[in-house]
Amino acid sequence: MNHVLILSGAGLSAESGIRTFRNSNGLWNEFNIMEVCSAEGFRKDREKVLDFYDMRRSDIKDKVPNAAHFMIAELKKSFPEEIHVLTQNVDDLLEKAGCPDVVHLHGTLCDLRCENCFNIWNIKYESIKGKKCPECKSSNIRHNVVMFHEPAPAYQTLYKTIEKTSSGLFVAIGTSGYVIDAGGIASCFNFSILNNRDPEPSMDNMFLKVFHEKATSAAPKIKEIVVKFINSGVF
Ligand SMILES: [Zn+2]
Repeated sequence: MNHVLILSGAGLSAESGIRTFRNSNGLWNEFNIMEVCSAEGFRKDREKVLDFYDMRRSDIKDKVPNAAHFMIAELKKSFPEEIHVLTQNVDDLLEKAGCPDVVHLHGTLCDLRCENCFNIWNIKYESIKGKKCPECKSSNIRHNVVMFHEPAPAYQTLYKTIEKTSSGLFVAIGTSGYVIDAGGIASCFNFSILNNRDPEPSMDNMFLKVFHEKATSAAPKIKEIVVKFINSGVF
């Protein structure tokens, strides 16, 4: 079987208006990232961090998936065994596009997590305020997004998927390579494609094919290469 691992990052959702920390109108300007997105910040001011994630959750309610999300969803539906969809994004745009079995490496905004029994449940775009764990009724609940200096359990899935698929094709879309070393992953694979809007030579060099353009404009080209690769093994 010709496996394809698709790893996406903030660049995939940028065109849908999802704000990130690193882009130009990014959240950097309004928030101190270590206060709202780190384990230390959470210990220091729990309320502030929960409010921050409440805002981000309600922020994605009206956002809609773009052509690149739909491209990934269609590939996954057409080739459920061959395609492996992993994302660094915590939004739900791949799900909104109809993509099944998305692995969220950094968690999910629409879920909450119980710190008492570790239950995870979906609250869509609601506030955490006044909520209790539906399983154990504990109020000791939090956002289900991985913060800085916290373990990211889903990375085990990433490593296992790389091991299983590295004789195939790796596709990285809209990821800077700062948090997850996409260039390093590419070097494990026989074939690789990178799509980022801006050049980043140290990372670009690790990939066989590079598209410097928006995710929506690269999407049809990526789809064509992936379908051909799955059907014939030719890159
Ligand atoms: Zn619980």
